[in-house]
Amino acid sequence: MQSIHKRPAIDGDLGWYESSPSRHSGLGARLKGEQHFDVAIVGAGFTGISLARRLAEIRPQARIALIDALEIGQGTSGRNAGFLIDVPHNVDGGQPDAEYERQLFALNNLAIGQLRSLKERYRIDCGWHDAGKYMSAHEEGNLARLECFADALKAAGFEYEVVEGQALSRRLGTSYYKAAVYTPGNVLVNPAALVRGLAAALPESVTLFTASPVVACDYGPVHTLKFLGGTLRADVLALTVGSFSEAFGRVGNRLASLFTYASLTEPLCGSEVSAHFNGVRPWGTTSAHPAGTTVRYTPDGRIFVRNTFHVQPALRSSDTCLQAAWENHRRSFEARFPSIAGKRFEYTWGGLISMTLNHHSVFRKDGDNFFSTVGCNGVGVVKGTYLGHFMAEYMNGMRSRELDFIMANSLPGWMPPEPFKRIGASLRLRREVAGAGGDV
Ligand SMILES: Cc1cc2nc3c(=O)[nH]c(=O)nc-3n(C[C@H](O)[C@H](O)[C@H](O)COP(=O)(O)OP(=O)(O)OC[C@H]3O[C@@H](n4cnc5c(N)ncnc54)[C@H](O)[C@@H]3O)c2cc1C
Repeated sequence: MQSIHKRPAIDGDLGWYESSPSRHSGLGARLKGEQHFDVAIVGAGFTGISLARRLAEIRPQARIALIDALEIGQGTSGRNAGFLIDVPHNVDGGQPDAEYERQLFALNNLAIGQLRSLKERYRIDCGWHDAGKYMSAHEEGNLARLECFADALKAAGFEYEVVEGQALSRRLGTSYYKAAVYTPGNVLVNPAALVRGLAAALPESVTLFTASPVVACDYGPVHTLKFLGGTLRADVLALTVGSFSEAFGRVGNRLASLFTYASLTEPLCGSEVSAHFNGVRPWGTTSAHPAGTTVRYTPDGRIFVRNTFHVQPALRSSDTCLQAAWENHRRSFEARFPSIAGKRFEYTWGGLISMTLNHHSVFRKDGDNFFSTVGCNGVGVVKGTYLGHFMAEYMNGMRSRELDFIMANSLPGWMPPEPFKRIGASLRLRREVAGAGGDV
């Protein structure tokens, strides 16, 4: 029996979850007693939910359990910046491969299309906004990264626009950035509201267990999952637990899990909007530098700020780390919006990003009737959605061009064990943050 010692926690005040319109609607039940299902999926984020939905379509008779340690929307899927990114999100400045990027673009759009149609069909109130996305630079030295990104978009034939100076300030309500590359296909959402809406819309053959952490596992031939006061046996097991995969003893030396942090202000009042954001539509920008700050102006008039990375092998944040992130967020917010610098942050929280060295994901069979999917590299709203969908097809022996592409790109590079991984990641982070300068 494998004990699961590292389990998800609530790291701070979860802003999207707390401000989600469906926050008080009950979703799922705690797992108690003896249960038996055909399939167990552990992890009800974007990946697990998409996997459950597709599996229920392929095998309508199967009894499927979808299990999460937290309430739906409290995990990383509900803590992110809410970008549904269509274009390859490569700011590494590597050589672009246009054909690879076109295939990724097609998969991203397939996932965005699925999410859009579910949002419409089930009327999911999640602040869905076809806002596009800016990638912006403040530092002169980071403008070259924007050019590199624009070159990659051009080579692949994707639509984009370069916006600079005054024109950019008018669109964003801040003159902080020198230039940006705007891509129109990105969608912005409240991710906790979206993931809750998707979970609520799952077919009847999927039973949802929430606030039910798996505390131990015995793998196959019939898999046994242990809970506090309960046991679940399943013929097939799929893990979609994100950064917690290593705790399940399966994905060793392929993942680096990093904490990053976000804050959300109180909504701006009418006079603040008319004085500083008059005619400005909701927007979102990532940074031209990978260690830079992500910022949004939301449809309900809040400013969202994300930056700061910490290596936390325990997979939990701490008050000290949250306080340090809050201070970084204040600095970034006040630099960009000096005219509303007094605005309070209502929420500050942390969440985990599971990184692989070459941006490949873990997408594989781990044993008899045992499958794992993880490694969304910070773009898991869309990537998790298509990986979950195609994992269900893979589990059922289906083949397609998309699945071949995913399989060919599911060979994450080897990572050294602890403590070398932690030391290497910390050194790299320090170097990156220093290079980002005023883009943090
Ligand atoms: C601050 C921040 C900003 C980000 N911004 C973006 C963005 O704008 N766009 C984007 O696409 N991505 C973004 N990401 C990344 C994105 O959130 C992830 O890639 C995505 O959540 C991965 O989804 P998932 O379903 O694979 O995993 P997760 O969302 O991590 O879901 C895994 C689930 O497994 C559950 N679990 C773990 N252990 C157990 C256990 N023992 N028992 C039961 N359940 C368990 C967890 O509670 C969790 O709900 C961001 C991440 C962070 C932290």
